[in-house]
Amino acid sequence: MKAVKFGGTSMSTIESIERVKSIITSDRERRFVVVSAPGKADGYPKVTDMLIAVADKEPELRAEAFLPVMRRFEELCGGLLANKDYLRQDFEQIIEKLPTASADYIISRGEYLCAKLLAAVLGYDFVDACELIKFRDGVFDDDYTQSVCKLALSGYKRAVIPGFYGSDASGDIVTFTRGGSDVSGAIVARAVNASLYENFTDVDGFMTCDPRIAPHATIIDVLTYKELRELAYMGANVLHPDSIFPVRRANIPIHILNTFNPDSEGTKIVPTEAFLNGEYKRKNKRPITAIAGKKDFFSLHIDKSMMNAEVGFARRVLNCFEKLNIPIEHIPSGIDSMTVVFSAVDGKTANELVEAVQKEVNPDHISLSTDLALIAIVGHGMVSRPGTAARAISRLSNADINLRMIDQGASEINIILGVSNDDFERALKALNGEFEV
Ligand code: ASP
Repeated sequence: MKAVKFGGTSMSTIESIERVKSIITSDRERRFVVVSAPGKADGYPKVTDMLIAVADKEPELRAEAFLPVMRRFEELCGGLLANKDYLRQDFEQIIEKLPTASADYIISRGEYLCAKLLAAVLGYDFVDACELIKFRDGVFDDDYTQSVCKLALSGYKRAVIPGFYGSDASGDIVTFTRGGSDVSGAIVARAVNASLYENFTDVDGFMTCDPRIAPHATIIDVLTYKELRELAYMGANVLHPDSIFPVRRANIPIHILNTFNPDSEGTKIVPTEAFLNGEYKRKNKRPITAIAGKKDFFSLHIDKSMMNAEVGFARRVLNCFEKLNIPIEHIPSGIDSMTVVFSAVDGKTANELVEAVQKEVNPDHISLSTDLALIAIVGHGMVSRPGTAARAISRLSNADINLRMIDQGASEINIILGVSNDDFERALKALNGEFEV
């Protein structure tokens, strides 16, 4: 049995929802369906953005601001159910609550209404996500959710479930971060023990490189969970980065498919072990699966003679980051030097950090660079194969690009290169030429 998720573009017009219906009904295994709120279409912005604007209004002005959302759903109901008033009672309930409702409640109504609509179109049951997905103190409660969700969904043969939100112990709605319906889909897939989590979106899958920078980039047919984590972290955002965890635990593959291009084979994201033992094969046998990168990192460089002999040095440096609540990305280091790479922070926090580290470890030299871009070269094929880093570095040097940092984890599935923000696009192009990903 399959769990299926459709993104906002798939749910945005009468025609696209008809397409969704035919995709679902063409495979009897597609029994549990999770949906996003309708995306941009017909001159309307994304429903979620419309609802964020509603939530930002003064309480007495919210009902009026909600009218365009209502109109949009009425148009969809009129075209798909021949009854534009199908959601009337829901609209009335929402409008009544608007003046006192929380932002999360208001913002989640796009998914709620969209799932109700699709359930009626398909003749499936509607199951509200607030009965299935549980948060505690604002944080997703994985274990509790699994037990609640498993039990609740075992009572249904076929159901449509709104993505993006759940509820806390007092029954209040809590949303995931933007794009969170991907996470809801993964949670449902695990709860119903699906054999596959199909994620229908508006692109053909993950690409080997950003096609705006590297025009010869192609779709990756098979990607492992581990490779996906590396790429998602670097901003390859086809899928919400947190959506891997629930399915990875249950070894359920994810299949990224394009609602609007039925001929595309998409990208299958598979358990790493299953790929390594040959259960899944990639057509392309190149050592590099993909190259991705992101700008705007900072790096704090610290020099101190005899640093290696000073027990607790690294801990004291890292404590300064922890106190300022700055997550750390990479820590390349030498005998007498240590560099800590982190995502850009505001100027005040950066100054506080430098002062704190200065005071804590009294370095010989400390400097902060603020324009670092990171590029990840990712692929299981690199493991135990000599030469990839050498080829990457010589490519950069041939293109006259200064390499500011290099970091390779012991897993050998990624090499991280740091270059100046200004060199980022040129570096990606140069590397793409070398590896022809
Ligand atoms: N509708 C939400 C958003 O626009 C959640 C989602 O689409 O996954 O972010």
